[in-house]
Parts: sequence; structure tokens; C-alpha cells
Amino acid sequence: MSSSFRQPPPSAGGNQQDLIENALDALRREWRSGFNGRVIEMLALPAIQRLRDLAATQHAAAELETVISRLSNYRELTTEGRKEELKSLAECIKALSPDLQPDRPGTQQIGKLRESRIPVKPSPKPEAGPKTTRSKMTRPDSPVTELPRVGEAVAKKLGKLGVTKIIDLLNLSPRRHIDYSRTITIGSILGFGEGGEITVRGEILDVKENPGHGVTRVTVRLADETGWVKVTWFNNYIARQLRAGMQIAVSGTLDSGFGPPSFTSPEWEIVGGPSLSTGRLTPIYPLTAGIAQKTMRSLTRAALDATLSAIVEPLPESIRESQGLVDINRAYEHLHYPGNQGELADAHRRITFDNLLLLQLGLMLRKNKRTSSRGVSIPVDRDLLLKFEEQLPFRLTNAQRRALDEVLNDYNLGKPMARLLQGDVGSGKTAVAAAAALLAVGAGYQVAVMAPTEILAEQHAVNFVKLYEGLPEELRPRSALLTGSTRAKERRELLPLVADGSTNILVGTHTLIQDQVSFARLGLTVIDEQHRFGVRQRSYLPTRVVEAQPHVLSMTATPIPRTLNLVLNGDLDVSIIDELPPGRIPIETHRYVGSERSLAYQLVRQEVAKGHQVFVICPLVEESDTSEAKAAVEEAERLQLEVFPKFRIATLHGRMAGREKERIMTAFRDREFDVLVATSVIEVGIDVPNATVMIIEGADRFGLAQLHQFRGRVGRGGNRSYCLLLADESSADGEARLDLMVETNDGFVVAEKDLELRGPGDYLGTRQSGLPEMSWLDSSFDTRLLDQAREVAERIVNVDPTLGQLDHHELKRRVIVLWSTAGTDPLPS
Ligand code: ADP
Ligand code: MG
Repeated sequence: MSSSFRQPPPSAGGNQQDLIENALDALRREWRSGFNGRVIEMLALPAIQRLRDLAATQHAAAELETVISRLSNYRELTTEGRKEELKSLAECIKALSPDLQPDRPGTQQIGKLRESRIPVKPSPKPEAGPKTTRSKMTRPDSPVTELPRVGEAVAKKLGKLGVTKIIDLLNLSPRRHIDYSRTITIGSILGFGEGGEITVRGEILDVKENPGHGVTRVTVRLADETGWVKVTWFNNYIARQLRAGMQIAVSGTLDSGFGPPSFTSPEWEIVGGPSLSTGRLTPIYPLTAGIAQKTMRSLTRAALDATLSAIVEPLPESIRESQGLVDINRAYEHLHYPGNQGELADAHRRITFDNLLLLQLGLMLRKNKRTSSRGVSIPVDRDLLLKFEEQLPFRLTNAQRRALDEVLNDYNLGKPMARLLQGDVGSGKTAVAAAAALLAVGAGYQVAVMAPTEILAEQHAVNFVKLYEGLPEELRPRSALLTGSTRAKERRELLPLVADGSTNILVGTHTLIQDQVSFARLGLTVIDEQHRFGVRQRSYLPTRVVEAQPHVLSMTATPIPRTLNLVLNGDLDVSIIDELPPGRIPIETHRYVGSERSLAYQLVRQEVAKGHQVFVICPLVEESDTSEAKAAVEEAERLQLEVFPKFRIATLHGRMAGREKERIMTAFRDREFDVLVATSVIEVGIDVPNATVMIIEGADRFGLAQLHQFRGRVGRGGNRSYCLLLADESSADGEARLDLMVETNDGFVVAEKDLELRGPGDYLGTRQSGLPEMSWLDSSFDTRLLDQAREVAERIVNVDPTLGQLDHHELKRRVIVLWSTAGTDPLPS
């Protein structure tokens, strides 16, 4: 496809097909980030201008000129207009595509190509090579097919690793590096014990092949002057590469067990081969079927060679210097091909820093943007608050009271609140939200309450009504529920009541409330379990009467370690409820290993005999939803056939349709089943007060924070409840983690420990939706780097709140590109 565009004119410095793709990509990003025009200016316009400058025909140039002027007027349009315009522009650009071929027969060539008037990369290039080299440079965001000897077939395989552009190859962090120059003798192997990586080299004595089910087992004996080891691979391809007499090096962990020392599926290299001769650290990449380690290496090498000096340094030198960071080109080179461990560490540090900085900048800019708009003002009616508290069946805890005060304080700061309420399951977040909602209603505003699932929305609707039960009729808010199951007729009756303000509190699922409802006077939006559903970027509901922005109160039962709160929630204010209401019976957590499983089953029988119910969580299966679903179904079958033949057992997993999941959960809540076998989809909470046992199979494979979430599914009624952690023999490290679960019920303690044990990567990864997707290099980077990035971001935003300065241009571009993956544009409009 791109081969016809392979030869741009010598001065072009960019591939036309890329530019077209870039422009189209920019239009798509603009769509996703809500039509505010910025992506158009930053990304689409430069690409189109460049295209026009390179246009091979008069016709194409003229058409592109029109496109440019339409792009320049884009901001004048209404949102609807912008939508239409984007569609039409995309059509237009696609239609031009064949016209841009320089050698298309029958088209009239423009005599001389104009030089670009607008530089594509406006910031000055560090270490820019001589002109002649530069013109051969490939752009980092060109497709991988631009690299020599990369065709569609290889590109497709790379796609499975998430690699489509050259920059993705650069960002593909090696799993580890092997230092083949530091080998030990085979005779000394046993002295190294279990666990660590070791590298040996020697001569292959013999090669044996055992054809198996579809895959051949290859066994070689590898010898040096001090002894020999057995090395086994399960790989048809390797069999063809190895011969007796060859000198190879292998690197990996030694097999445990008895018998002579052996390796299974280690990394290997031919001694004297290209990567060994340099004596440098050799990268080991994550692989996908059909691409060998050696091919990956030549790909990243080619990617580096083709693009390195075309990568624009986003950090001004002053920042690099003050933070002790290497420059971006060096970082990419050493991320893949470091000369030593120090260079590798510096590269990681630099690239991780960049990611963190972009994250911080986005959060800060977004907060600035919010706090510069006007918020609804809700007077704090102490009298009403007192009436609310007096009729509650309990007294608010100190932590609840503190959180509520923080919310009420935000009500009158003149800007919209964006507050996140963090508290363990059962800490009473709903009561705080209900109090806040009541005051909003008392002041004549409406409240939207959004839950991630229908069943949770129903639960909230019931709970809110209950919490207001004892109020005098005239003070009691009128509330309604709106979900996908709401009948069309009911819905037709309900919507006008919301639109004219008669309904004070509307509870529903996110999508419904967001998309289709217009409120008369929305003053507060409450979002439950925001962490799970990535809704915070869309926190602002459209209101017809735009006098001021409504406040937003989000709630999450996932405690975030305090050290990370500022970083992850930098755009929000956080209130923490770190105290459970008195009188709760703490959940008993036990740990069982191997055959002790039968003890767990005994407890299950006792509890079911009492009429209680049980959750069983299946072990985490990494590969896919499908295999996870399969594991759940099989576990349910096993329990039914072999363990609990008399119990009613249901299954719940991620491959089920949303409706089906809701149906199963409702049935379980209504006691139609005794045992619910589930995958991690159960994590987000429905209340099943009658469930008293949570069994987690393969507990050592879940993160602590996630285990804690599971545990929160039980203990919601007044009954003594149990969380049983099952693991087949686990490592000492795994045991320590599970012991911690046994010792504490406090989610914040668990979170701190989780951070300590696993590093911050998990918190920043995709599961924290609402944040952009980042190419994380390392989940265990130094937490201090977060503070550093925050300081630098603060400094930048203070002096340059719009990132308008020339030396911040590349940073700005990257912030926009990164945050568009989260559907937001954090920059001021
Ligand atoms: P969360 O949403 O934080 O998981 P909920 O708001 O659902 O917790 O509260 C859990 C249960 O505790 C509810 O039944 C609620 O009525 C009750 N509750 C809330 N606050 C208190 C309190 N201060 N004292 C006693 N019970 C409380
Ligand atoms: Mg809740």
C-alpha cells in the first residue's frame, strides 16, 4: 500500500501517506476529545500544510488549500457543525489520497516543489545531523512498514504487540537485558542456587529432537571445559538452527529439581554473532508468534537508526540539567542498546520521567481549567443538615463529618467542585453523598447520581430513599431511577419531570444520565465507583441552563496510597474516610495452602446450612477473557460435581453480556443460588448482605488491593463473615502478602503495602481509567520520580499556563496527544 509512496522528493522529509494518516488520525482524536479545535491546530493543520507543499498536482494543491482554509474556520462552528465538518473533511482528504502520488500517470506535475512555509517540527532540533542525513530520516510516527524489509506480514505480527508506528518500536521496552560478556563456567553453576539469572557458554555436543503435539522438543547438551548442562526448548524453529559443534551462550534460570543441571527455554545466542561481538547488554523483547528475538533486535536497531535524530527533544535543557536527565535520543538508544547497567537505568529514568511529566501537566492544566470556570453556589443550610442527621438511624462518624464539611466548603468557593471521596467498602460514603445531595435540593438544585451498573443504580435509589425516610414530607427529595431496564412508557413520563425540575434526584447508570437527560437546574453530580469506569473526564453533564457548572462528587472504594493521591488525582480534591462505623464485626481472613482447601469447603457447608451464601473467585488467567471465562465455568462444574453436589451454583464472567451478568447477580442477591463462581468482574460492588464467605482461589496471584476489593463483597449484613485465601504452594513473597491480608482489614494499610511491594505501575496502568494510556516502561520505578515530575510540571505551568512558549511546544504537543487517548483536552480553550 505505502510502497507507491516510497519515494518522496529528496527535500520532502516526510511520507505523504503518513501525512494523510496523521491528518486523519488528528481528525479522529479531535472527535474523541470533544471538538474543541486544539488537535486540529496542533496536528491536522501542520500535516495538511505539509501535504500541500508536497502536492504533485495543481488539483491536489488547490484542494488542500481549501481544506486548510476550512480547518482554519473550524473553531467558528458549533459543536454540531464541527462534527459534520470533521466527517466531510475526512472524506475530502481520503478522496485526495490517490492524487498525491507523484508519479501518477496522466496528472500534471507541478514544476517545482515549494518549500514548507510552516515548519512541521517547530522547536529547534538538538543534535540535528547534516541536512543530507536529515532528509533521509523517517518520522517517528510513520508506520513500521517504512522500515527496510518490513512488509505487511511483519507489520501485522507487530500489531499484536501494539506496535504499528516506528515510535511504538522505540517505546517497546525490553523485558530485560542479558550481559553475554559476563558468563560463568558450567562447573560453577550449582553454586549459584535457584532463582537468579545465569549465563553460560559452550559447545553443543549433540542435538535431539522429539516431535510432540504440534511442537518439537529440542534438547541439547552444552559443554565447556568444566562440565555440561542439558538445555531444552519447545520450539520447531530452534531445531532448525542448532547443530552439534556450534558455540552458543544461554541465559536464564536453572530448572529446579533433581538430576543434572538444566535449563528450559532460556534465551540464547550464537557466540560471535552480531550482538555478542559488541560485548554490550543484549535486549530481550516481549515476543509474538512469528517474530524471533533476533528479528526484534534488528527491528529496533533499524527503528533507532532511521528516526533517532528526528525525535524532537521535549524537555528544555534547563530542566534536563536540573533533574539530571539524559537527552531523549540517548535515552531511546540506551533503553534498547545500553553500554552498561548505568546507561540503561538513566534511559529508564528519563523515559519514565517524561511519561510522568505529561501526566502531571495534563492533570494540572485540567484543574486550572476547571477552577477558572464558575460553579453553582449552594448555601449551607445548617438547620436542614441537622434535621437530616437527627432522622438517621446512626450518628455520622468523625471521618464522615470531616468529609462532609469539605464538600460543603466547596459549595461556596465560586468554582465547580471536583472532589473524590475515598473510603473502604462500608465506610458510609453514601450517607455523605446523601447529605450533600439534600442541601443541593434544599437550595433548589437537582442532583444526578450515576452508578456503573444497573444493579448498583437500583441499590442506590433504594438507599437514598431510606436515608431520607424520616424527613418531613416537604423536605424529602423526590427521586427517580432511570436505567436501561426502565420501560419506554415510564421513561417518557419521567424525562419531562427531570426537565422541568420536579424530580429532585435522578439515579441511574452513567450512559443514560449522560446522554439523554436534560435537567432544569443541575447542581450536583454524584459518581459512584468512578475509578472503575473512567468517567471523570466526562464529569460535566450538559445542562440546558448554563448559568454555572454543577459540582461533582465522585466516590471510590479503592483506597489509593497517600503518596500517590496527589499524583493520580492531581486534578481532584480528595476526602478520605478512614474510619468504619462502630460495631462492625470485622471480616475474618484465613489462608489455606494445598490440601487445607477442604477446611475452606467445610466452612462453606456450615454457612450454607445457615442459609448464607458464598462467592468463589477463580484464579487470574492472564491470556484472555475467554480463558478466564472457561476457567470459571470449569471451576463451577468441578465444585458442583465433586464438592457441593447439593448446592445451587451459578457462574459469572466477563464474556457474558451486560444483561446476562445483571440477571445472574440479581438472581444471586435474591437467593436463587448458594454459590456464585466468578472472575474478577465481581470486583465492583453489589450488596448481597446474605453472603458471608468469599473464597479466593489462586489468591497469591492477585494484587493486594484487588484482594481487598473482593473481601469487601462480604460482611455487608450483620453476620460474621469470612474471606478465605487459597493458594497452592506459594513463594515466600506471596505468603508475606497474604499474611498481611490476614492481619489487617484496613484498605489504606493494604494499599500502602501494595505500593511498597509492587511499585506504582499498577496504580498508573490501564485499570485506573480516566487517565491516559501510557507506554510504561517499568512498573517499579522510583516513587521519588513522581515528586520530581510534579515539581517540574508545577514550575512549567506557573510560568507558562498555556504551554505557549516555544521551548514548550513539543511538550504541549505530547500532552495533547497523550491526553486525547483519555478523551480529554486539558489545555485552556
Ligand atoms: P460505602 O458506600 O462507603 O461502601 P455505605 O454508605 O453503603 O458504604 O454504608 C454501608 C452501611 O453502613 C449502610 O448500611 C449504611 O446505612 C451504614 N452506615 C453508614 N454510616 C454509618 C454510621 N455512621 N454508623 C452506622 N452505620 C452507618
Ligand atoms: Mg457504596
